[in-house]
Amino acid sequence: MELKPYQTNTLCLHSDSVRSKSLPYPHLEMAEGTLPFPFGFNHATLKIEPHEVKSVAPIVSSYNDRIRPILDALENLRRLNITKEGIQLPTIVVVGDQSSGKSSVLESLAGISLPRGQGICTRVPLVMRLQNHSLPKPVLELEYNNKHVPTDEAHVSKAICDATDELAGYGKGISNTPLTLVVKKNGVPDLTMIDLPGITRVPVQGQPTDIYDQIVNIIMEYIRPHESIILNVLSAAVDFPTCESIRMSQSVDKTGERTLAVVTKVDMFPEGLLEKVTADDVNIGLGYVCVRNRIGDESYEEAREEEAKLFKTHTLLSNIDKSIVGIPVLAEKLVRLQAVSISKILPEIAKKINDKLGSQLFKLEKFPRKLTSAVDGMAAFMHIIGSARESLCKILLRGEFDEYPDDKQMHCTARVAEMFDQYADDLRKGSESNDEDEFLMEEIRVLEETKRIGLPNFIPRTVFLTRLQGKMEDISCMPIEFIDELWDYLEEVVVAVLKRHSEHYHQLQTCTTLVGRKLIAKMKENSMKYLKEVLEMEKLTDYTCSPKYTSEYDKLIARQKHFVERVEANASEIIIQGFGTIQASHLSQYRTLLPQAFDLKVRLQAYWKIVLQRLIDNTALHMQFSIFNLLNKDIGHEVLKDMVSSSEGGIERLFEETSSVAAKRDELNRSIKVLKESKEVMASIIDKISTYGN
Ligand code: GDP
Ligand code: MG
Repeated sequence: MELKPYQTNTLCLHSDSVRSKSLPYPHLEMAEGTLPFPFGFNHATLKIEPHEVKSVAPIVSSYNDRIRPILDALENLRRLNITKEGIQLPTIVVVGDQSSGKSSVLESLAGISLPRGQGICTRVPLVMRLQNHSLPKPVLELEYNNKHVPTDEAHVSKAICDATDELAGYGKGISNTPLTLVVKKNGVPDLTMIDLPGITRVPVQGQPTDIYDQIVNIIMEYIRPHESIILNVLSAAVDFPTCESIRMSQSVDKTGERTLAVVTKVDMFPEGLLEKVTADDVNIGLGYVCVRNRIGDESYEEAREEEAKLFKTHTLLSNIDKSIVGIPVLAEKLVRLQAVSISKILPEIAKKINDKLGSQLFKLEKFPRKLTSAVDGMAAFMHIIGSARESLCKILLRGEFDEYPDDKQMHCTARVAEMFDQYADDLRKGSESNDEDEFLMEEIRVLEETKRIGLPNFIPRTVFLTRLQGKMEDISCMPIEFIDELWDYLEEVVVAVLKRHSEHYHQLQTCTTLVGRKLIAKMKENSMKYLKEVLEMEKLTDYTCSPKYTSEYDKLIARQKHFVERVEANASEIIIQGFGTIQASHLSQYRTLLPQAFDLKVRLQAYWKIVLQRLIDNTALHMQFSIFNLLNKDIGHEVLKDMVSSSEGGIERLFEETSSVAAKRDELNRSIKVLKESKEVMASIIDKISTYGN
């Protein structure tokens, strides 16, 4: 037999001389009779020709020497709890109905006694790590809850029961916390297997009512990963297709390519066994092995001898092919399956560890550091404010939305421009709606009330200003409401950004949010003051240097003569450019005032356009200026001022983290530590795998 690399970094066990049937793994060919089982196994049962035994011996030892470090490494990974990082390890998982003989099979493989018998004995996942060892005395150790408990063959059964009680409680409940048993013993196969609680449908007294679901959940969790080899233990007494454990393994391994069946109690139920294991109507891809476990007080050696004798001499059992009977055959198959599975999966595991480590390190880098001093706190504060400011500059001034690609609400430049468009629209419409009155009547009334002894055809300035003020009054609440609404929107945006940047520091977040709101309230007040002033200014003075006013006035006043003539001709409807069709019957009684009233109206109309434009432009420039000031001067300054004055316990107090943040960081650090150690573990063996074929 020789060992060849199957692919880069992949181990392939290959035998030129002795081959058995090939297995569903495309690259896996099982060579039998090439492994030693020095604990009293008879090599004859493994179909080895005498000349081959001689030639294989050194390779076998080198195989063991090579597979051992890989198993050690895997064990280390398991101990590091790498599965918690979402990385599955190749495992042989023992499943079966209750009392099907799972623990007995493990016992036979390990040559030690485990708790076994009727009812539920295995109540936690038991990770059995068997290690061939040249020590004269076996070394046994239990590991659980970070404890290492040495034990020996005579006491291991009780030690397991005690540990189980500790993990799963006294009584008959079960738990998913694993218990590891390391057995170093001369002659045991190098195997790591997991014994699971047996499937039981009906809870016995003292068991929780959902015991079945609990057990099924644990079993499924272990057999679902593609990396698991399922060792399905079946009692020869049962009809395989109806067996619950078969149904379960079939549900996760449809083709059976990672399922191996062990049939126990063949001594008690030998009838029809040959047919059952040759028919294979339940898709056991890796085949069957029939065994007879230890009975009563037999020693292991006696049990193996009895087993060998049984399969040799029993009228029914002796007909079963020797390549599928006996514990030694089972041990060999398992070692080989394990080696192939591991070698296939190791490069993938190494890659997963690397990837995961990379992503965790990246997360940690993004995570805030724990702050321990005022200097630290200050630096972090400056950083937070700086980055929050930068975010705000992007969304409020520059229109860059890379930090909020999908959140339209945070695309502020666009939203603010939209609000301004709406504002301009509302202002125009708002001032039109007040002209519902009969045409020119407003102007006529004002003219009548400002009559005095003097020349006719003369419009006093006060008349114009009175009309202007009236119009300003009508729309004066609109700019105030608009600015109120605009600052409310900006407040939400600023607070959201501040919150995001200080999310890991609860105290600081509360403080910056508060200061942010206060600051905006102050800015809003300033804007209100400014706009009120603007409105007052507009009311006080009628002025513009815009030539648009004159051109608009000239255009409209050109219709005056036509208008007066039509009223004098008693027209009931008149079409005037710039005003549309107007009703005129009510105007005939005010003939003397008509030219002045019309003049007043068109003056105001021409000027009002200028006023509205100025109002909108002013508001826009003011807002842009305020936002600019907020970001460039006020925000850092105000937050700092407020923070220093409010932080009684010093600046560090503001950086106290919430416990969940601290826990998240601890978890991240823990995960990184595990992954780094795992990476080292992998590095130590990956060379060995790549040199496998040499
Ligand atoms: P588990 O619940 O699947 O772990 O089953 P156990 O290993 O505890 O075995 C249940 C019972 O079946 C025990 O009393 C064992 O001694 C018995 N048993 C297991 N395997 C065999 C076997 O091959 N032959 C006989 N006669 N009894 C067995
Ligand atoms: Mg058991």
